[in-house]
Amino acid sequence: MKYEIDEFGYYGEFGGAYIPELLYNNLHQLKAAYKEIATDETFIGTLNELLTDYVGRPSPLYYAKRLSEHYQTNIYLKREDLNHTGAHKINNTIGQIFLAQRMRKKRIIAETGAGQHGVATATVCALMGLECIVYMGATDIERQQPNVDRMQLLGARVVPVHSGSQTLKDATNEAIRDWIAHPDDTHYIIGSVVGPDPYPEIVTHFQSIIGKEIAIQLAEKTGNKNPTAIIACVGGGSNAIGAFHHFLSDEKVALYAVEGSGEGIYSGRTAATMVQGKPGIIHGSKTYLMQDGDGQITEPYCISAGLDYPGIGPLHAHLFREKRVHYMHATDDDALTAAYQLMKFEGIIPALESAHAFAALKKIKFLQTDTVVINLSGRGDKDLTTYVNNKQQ
Ligand SMILES: *Cc1c(COP(=O)(O)O)cnc(C)c1O
Repeated sequence: MKYEIDEFGYYGEFGGAYIPELLYNNLHQLKAAYKEIATDETFIGTLNELLTDYVGRPSPLYYAKRLSEHYQTNIYLKREDLNHTGAHKINNTIGQIFLAQRMRKKRIIAETGAGQHGVATATVCALMGLECIVYMGATDIERQQPNVDRMQLLGARVVPVHSGSQTLKDATNEAIRDWIAHPDDTHYIIGSVVGPDPYPEIVTHFQSIIGKEIAIQLAEKTGNKNPTAIIACVGGGSNAIGAFHHFLSDEKVALYAVEGSGEGIYSGRTAATMVQGKPGIIHGSKTYLMQDGDGQITEPYCISAGLDYPGIGPLHAHLFREKRVHYMHATDDDALTAAYQLMKFEGIIPALESAHAFAALKKIKFLQTDTVVINLSGRGDKDLTTYVNNKQQ
């Protein structure tokens, strides 16, 4: 299959596992546990029950009537914002906590940017009675305080990270360092389709439920399971891959991934990896990343903490090379404008991350007969301060 992972853990030329030897055993163990549960009927049954009764799946596919009228097309929103904990992240953490149990790991670590992955990890750790430590950049702790409170209420220890730009990349570095120091009793729950093999494959698998549901729901609503286009925002790329995966082989379905370009792609304050990046290695994987002439990773910037990352998952790098997915970008201002518009037309306050996907509506010309699905990856509760402070400008 053109877009599936190969036996060496690569999507085309991207992916692999560039990690210290000390962690080889952990990755082997993880891959073995994943292969076991992927076909285990009991596991699949238990997981599905939790996805239904605990997470609230399937998430609705909502026809956004007033937004559709405004853009003269048919826009459906995949409501991942209505999941328990407020974003798509829980689809992955709930799957990975079962992997941790199967590997008999008692200590869970995670990195987080906007705090959504941290909250989703703290939640499943509470659910299973496991210890939880979350690494978070000091900048992000400041701008996403409500999620820090949530993690702590759920019993997690939040460790501030003061290196680099004090955001997601730096938190990920710290989590990997912790894992190297505690390889025996610890499982690292990565929050996106990034990191060494087999993480991109595992996270893709758990998130691909989004696209499978879209196909079923769209068939019910329109008689055709295939939309004209799907739009999603991209930090590491998990909600986008989750929404796209089912449709990758249907080349007629146009796929748009929107990165955060911060203050603009040439401003030096950006997180638009596909525009600014080149192939290299970050967090154990060969992929596109933002780097300077000497190959040093560039400090990213984006108003939304979840998109503030200088890399992207290896499958995205491959889909970019293969020209299967269109990679676009939206600035902070574009995203804010799109968010206020969604509030006004539909009564929905989106996560700042998701607002970047909505910003693409202004840049793509759709026909009146087209069907467009936007993956609304999360809700905006955590971003209220940013929305209030920018509204008056
Ligand atoms: C974490 C997050 C993102 C970015 O991560 P991806 O792996 O690219 O999906 C986007 N939206 C929301 C709401 C998030 O919490």
